[in-house]
Amino acid sequence: MSELATGDLRARLARVPAVERMLSAPGVQPLIEVYGRTQVLAAVRASLDALRGELLAQANNGEHVRDRAGSAASPPNRDPDSYEAHIVADAGAWLARRARSSMRAVFNLTGTVLHTNLGRALLPDEAVQAVIVALTHASNLEFDLETGARGDRDDLIDELICELTGAEAATVVNNNAAAVLLTLSALAPKKEVVVSRGELVEIGGAFRIPDIMARAGARLREVGTTNRTHPKDYEEAINPRTALLMKVHCSNYAISGFTKSVEIDELARIAQRHALPVAFDLGSGTLTDLTQWGLPAEPTVRGTIEAGADLVTFSGDKLLGGPQAGLIVGRSELIRKIKKHPLKRALRVGKLTLAALEPVLRLYRAPEFLAERLTTLRLLTRPAADMHASARRVQPVLQQVLGERYTVSVEPMFSQIGSGALPVDQLASYGVVLRVPAARRSGRALAQLEKALRALPRPVVGRIADDALKLDLRCLEAADEAQFIAQCAELRL
Ligand SMILES: *Cc1c(COP(=O)(O)O)cnc(C)c1O
Repeated sequence: MSELATGDLRARLARVPAVERMLSAPGVQPLIEVYGRTQVLAAVRASLDALRGELLAQANNGEHVRDRAGSAASPPNRDPDSYEAHIVADAGAWLARRARSSMRAVFNLTGTVLHTNLGRALLPDEAVQAVIVALTHASNLEFDLETGARGDRDDLIDELICELTGAEAATVVNNNAAAVLLTLSALAPKKEVVVSRGELVEIGGAFRIPDIMARAGARLREVGTTNRTHPKDYEEAINPRTALLMKVHCSNYAISGFTKSVEIDELARIAQRHALPVAFDLGSGTLTDLTQWGLPAEPTVRGTIEAGADLVTFSGDKLLGGPQAGLIVGRSELIRKIKKHPLKRALRVGKLTLAALEPVLRLYRAPEFLAERLTTLRLLTRPAADMHASARRVQPVLQQVLGERYTVSVEPMFSQIGSGALPVDQLASYGVVLRVPAARRSGRALAQLEKALRALPRPVVGRIADDALKLDLRCLEAADEAQFIAQCAELRL
């Protein structure tokens, strides 16, 4: 470092304001009112340290270095007269970033309606209102208003669940994985559970039937082969140690070709002959016949009970369209046993879940309005013409902000139900497709575009396929479309 540079540095460092002075600088008091003195002090100190570091680095290298990651604004060779204003701006940006929720609303334009990574089902307003009440008021969560005695939180909704499914009894836990774990723990400890090899599925991440079985202390008795399992395979596996026959809905994959599986009615007859219960993990169990809206056939919970299943487990936030939960329905004495298991206490749902679940279930009493009022079903049944019209409104706005680097076109595409309906079943949709005109290096340019869309105030998540970034507009309903269009101007590439 030259002597001139050292002197210059010393002079510059001397002009960096002291913390105390910063606290009375213009613009700081409003920050204190919002964030409190403690946080503002920390922010100012951090900004001052960063500024000193920046000056030192500049003097050492004869060049300016990048400001600390994510800092608001850091022009090179800052004017000492603007140090104060810079610190206020920098501290303000830092405080604002820290105050933002880490869970944020995004636009799900992936085309997968029930997207596990994006939070699955969106809930109707009735559920939102009920959650607000539950959050801000004491409630009869475990209190019998008739007798004044202690109640059971399941009592709030088990009758409604039974009404909608035809089951004798019901209980609710945290999610369907918990429902399966609890069922096996309660009904088959140290005993055998017979499952077809074709149904030993993994459902995203850590949910694998054999692992859950081991955790529950049950012994897995695999029967049949990956593609074919026959009634006699179950018959031959049954022995005095057998506690349960189990069937798992292959939600996320399909075996096609030379296949044979034993349907639930047939399995129920086998179980009955041996005086054993049969449980069916339906995964995305639906409460109504989806084919009436032209959607793919999925087994209903009621149909499964009627076919002879003694227990059925399913998710609350898949096709049902409610909050994350696992529902267990079936024969009273089995549900009683499940509810008495200590794990039930560990896996029970919170009051917010129950508050949200009840109004969603109640919507099923008016099937005429379901496709309009149940958000999940409304999205799944949106006519392609809606998405087409939306895409025609969105396309020119996007093309305008993206300029010549990308082309934006309106195109037909297919959405998926997601979370447990067969991935081969696709729903006709429309969206906008973003491409790089000069095809060279399009992968990189598309990744850059994806990143810029994620950096928007409300991040946009699409999907890359066939050398293009596709934005499926199925989940972009009217109010969202307006917000989407409004924020397009902020896209920075
Ligand atoms: C989704 C699914 C699960 C897990 O349900 P969560 O509610 O996500 O815990 C279990 N079994 C099947 C068959 C599923 O489809």
